[in-house]
Amino acid sequence: MQGAETGAAKLYYQKSKKQYYLIVALSITLPDPQPTDHPRIVGVDVGQRYHFVATDMNGQSLFKKGAAVRQRKDQFARTIKSLQRKGTRSATRRLVALSGRERRFVADRNHVLSKMLLTRFPGAIFGLEDLTNIRERTEGRSNPKASKKAKRVKRRRSQWSFQELQFNLAYKAPLYGSLAVKVDANYTSQSCPKCGHCSKGNRPNAGLMFVCEVCGHTGHSDRVASVNIALRTMLVRQDWMSTGSLSITPDVSDVEVKAARLSRYAELRWNPDTNP
Ligand SMILES: [Zn+2]
Repeated sequence: MQGAETGAAKLYYQKSKKQYYLIVALSITLPDPQPTDHPRIVGVDVGQRYHFVATDMNGQSLFKKGAAVRQRKDQFARTIKSLQRKGTRSATRRLVALSGRERRFVADRNHVLSKMLLTRFPGAIFGLEDLTNIRERTEGRSNPKASKKAKRVKRRRSQWSFQELQFNLAYKAPLYGSLAVKVDANYTSQSCPKCGHCSKGNRPNAGLMFVCEVCGHTGHSDRVASVNIALRTMLVRQDWMSTGSLSITPDVSDVEVKAARLSRYAELRWNPDTNP
């Protein structure tokens, strides 16, 4: 292993089998973040239909559609399948190359997407859903009558790496004067940000539209989710202001903690005029 030091960055050329990998170990010291440095709060909902829907407390949203990437992923899947059917040695070789290309494609998209968010909302606290306990996010509710093929398509699509996007966003955020925090992901797409009513019925036919059964509040369901995430992020910031320390997400499986949080969300309600 050879090393060359340039400023804070250390470049290592690591010889591994046939390929050379370039590993950049970059360390930058930044001052401890303060809540007052982050006046903006942004909730980020990640998903299949849209890579992300981000909404700040002024109600400004940024939507990023996922269709083009999904098409490309389907293309990869089709080619992989036909190569697997062939099963020849050259097909196997092409499969290895293809899987690498697919991985790099996903990684590249996730870098582009995270940068898009960070440049659009500088100096923000980004609220991200804690997806640790969520195995996959699919399009709408699962349909027991769906054909085998439809289920397979869904499974493949769910492999899009949301956690990688969140990770990229979180580690790059300080470079843009921002910060990322995790908030619990329970019922973000079923809760009404206006009146707090939480029910599956708020999503008629599990569709794109959110219609509150109680107050009639309507909106794009993914945007409603991002608003709910922004709300939860605001609570994190409030706690940070009052305690002086930024706490990590409490264990959301704890029923009491969850109930306390839900009642606080209900007190807060979302309001476009709310000034964080
Ligand atoms: Zn409502």
